[in-house]
Amino acid sequence: MDDKIEQEYRNYREYADRYIPFGLRPNIHDPVFGAERGLLVGSFVDRSEPLWNLARRNLAARAVTSLIEETLGGWRDQAYGKDPDEGSVVQAMIGAEILLPCKLKSRYVEDAFRFDVTATPEIILDQLGKLHQRYRSAPAHGDLHGENVRVRNDHAIVIDLASVVRSAPLTADLASLETWLAFQMPPECNPWVYEDAIWVAEIDRLCAPTSFLHPPGPCDPTSKFCWMSSVVRQLRRMGIAVQSCSTEYQAAVAVQLLRRCQWDDGPAADRFRRTKGIRRRGPIGERAGEEEDMSIVPRRVNLRGFAEYRDEGEKMLTAPGDVVVIRRGALRSVLMRCPDGCDETLVVNLDSRAGKSWRLDMRTGKPTLYPSVWRDGGCGSHFIIWRGQLLWCDRFEEGNLEPNFELLALGRRVLKSLRRRELRSAEEIAAELDEITWEVSRAGQMLVQRKLAICGSGKQRDWFALA
Ligand SMILES: [Zn+2]
Repeated sequence: MDDKIEQEYRNYREYADRYIPFGLRPNIHDPVFGAERGLLVGSFVDRSEPLWNLARRNLAARAVTSLIEETLGGWRDQAYGKDPDEGSVVQAMIGAEILLPCKLKSRYVEDAFRFDVTATPEIILDQLGKLHQRYRSAPAHGDLHGENVRVRNDHAIVIDLASVVRSAPLTADLASLETWLAFQMPPECNPWVYEDAIWVAEIDRLCAPTSFLHPPGPCDPTSKFCWMSSVVRQLRRMGIAVQSCSTEYQAAVAVQLLRRCQWDDGPAADRFRRTKGIRRRGPIGERAGEEEDMSIVPRRVNLRGFAEYRDEGEKMLTAPGDVVVIRRGALRSVLMRCPDGCDETLVVNLDSRAGKSWRLDMRTGKPTLYPSVWRDGGCGSHFIIWRGQLLWCDRFEEGNLEPNFELLALGRRVLKSLRRRELRSAEEIAAELDEITWEVSRAGQMLVQRKLAICGSGKQRDWFALA
């Protein structure tokens, strides 16, 4: 408890004092070490009530607006002072320690399995972790829920600053509050009634994949969960409005739903609701994957075969993204019909004796080229070929989908090969471990996010050392 109070006090000095308006945050002069956390709150929440109570009376709308725009506005405004970050929203939230994947309780996975959900949290996180996304970052509360937001005269007051994080996707707090209000067991519901059909139907409607593109419509006003629907829809509209790419808010909600499975306390119905949360996550990963099909440019290469000479190989290329490997004794080059449809043939040299060369890896029969292929002139196509997948750089990036590989297992091996105070390139480590450089690079970035490793900057971004 002492540690938590100390943390809260530090966070208070660093974040609340400067950014949260006076009267909408605890006003602390000295931390009361050794005391119950409630003491930090003091008397300033007099005549206030939890947001949770207002939400259940369907009266939370003005308080939610006040919370996001006024109380937390000073943090959230910082997101717009810089360019959006690029990468996976899920990885950013794990990096901020909003989700601790090692703490997920296996019982929910087993329960979900009985409902024919075969995607484990690891698979879901892995899929979502590969998305190339864009998001704005700002300090976040980190654990926003219906009981640590108090409301007085429609003004929202946050009373718990122990989990504040320096930087998280702008959608993280909205998703936290939305999922808590949707999935938390209200005290008036019978905690031993396992499954509530009305709640399940409303959750299915609110969590349908299309509800993350356009906010879901209103719920039947006589439904007993109309209040839940109203507050979720309000937060959903805010989430969709601030996201920086079409999958950001959905991914943030997926993380927050998994996060609820870090605890297994509570009665049967509560645990059922958490399992339901996992079940709702299946479609998110799938939909994120489907998006690539909607795009017109190829997202994978088509290996047409091998040839000895270039003119022979060139005849085998018919469609954008077609690839032929020229092999004459040794590997010579890769011919490729430019994937952007400009009809040019690209020649990627594999022979180190003939100037700048690329490395071709053919494990599991799928081509990987390292480094990226960049046409300097002409159409300027720039892309990565990785296990047969084609990942675009600079344009068409939104539909990029990275191939499947064992990120966590590779991370452990990469960690062992790192040295202290000596940066090693992903390329060098990949050669040593006989792995694909793109994957060693991803594993290194994961280690950096988990603070187990550090990386260089600029041209040495893919160079890693022990933290
Ligand atoms: Zn081209």
